[in-house]
Amino acid sequence: MHKNRVNILGTEFDNFTTKQFHKYLDDDLDVKANKFIVTPNPEIVLSARKDTNFSEIVNNADYVIPDGIGVIKGAKSLGTPLHERITGFDTLQYLVEAANRKFSKVYLLGAKPEVIEASAEKIKKDYPQVDLVGYHDGYFKDEADIVAEIAEKQPNIVFVALGSPKQEIFINKYRKTTDAIWIGVGGSFDVFSGTKKRAPKFFQALNLEWFYRLIKEPTRFGRMLAIPRYMNLINKEKKSRK
Ligand code: UDP
Repeated sequence: MHKNRVNILGTEFDNFTTKQFHKYLDDDLDVKANKFIVTPNPEIVLSARKDTNFSEIVNNADYVIPDGIGVIKGAKSLGTPLHERITGFDTLQYLVEAANRKFSKVYLLGAKPEVIEASAEKIKKDYPQVDLVGYHDGYFKDEADIVAEIAEKQPNIVFVALGSPKQEIFINKYRKTTDAIWIGVGGSFDVFSGTKKRAPKFFQALNLEWFYRLIKEPTRFGRMLAIPRYMNLINKEKKSRK
């Protein structure tokens, strides 16, 4: 079905459209399937190259979707283009809407206490049919209580925002506690809650969201060096495939 994957420097991306992906998610929710979504960007592709365990976790996820314009550019450059970029943030948004349509049970984990609180409030206010069964910030010492709560409440969707690779490791370890769609959403709650602004449409249209984020958070500069390193590897790979 969706196992039509494209290998970008070792990470295997699903190649489908947003529309097809959303249809799979709707079907998964209807049958209470246990699914794991990862949303790699170039930085995650590079981390996976360095860490075999992490790479296995990513490649064994049910959905590996291309978050980040770098992934789309890399795929095209290697001659194996992907349909389109599908971001973790847009997927979070779609799943919350789907949960509202289907009266699904949702659990939120991660981000700072005030961010996750504001995200929970937003869901209660704007998506009143979502059954928000619990939420917890991402700065905990012991995860046992959180896992026990998830096991008890049996949510249909679990959003995990602990940053990478923490969130993927967490999901991989605990996904059997409830048959849900589990997704690592990185910093998405910061945007969803309104704490941080997503790049204006202008930046989005020019594929310059990364640049907007860099201006807003200059401390991300070190992390962004992953992009030229990634492009360099793409170019090398392209030459070696010729
Ligand atoms: N975070 C967390 N616990 C931690 C480390 C990070 O909950 O121990 C949260 C952090 O507050 C932020 C998210 O994880 O909301 C990671 O954000 P980042 O911008 O690094 O993720 P990206 O979107 O770039 O993947």
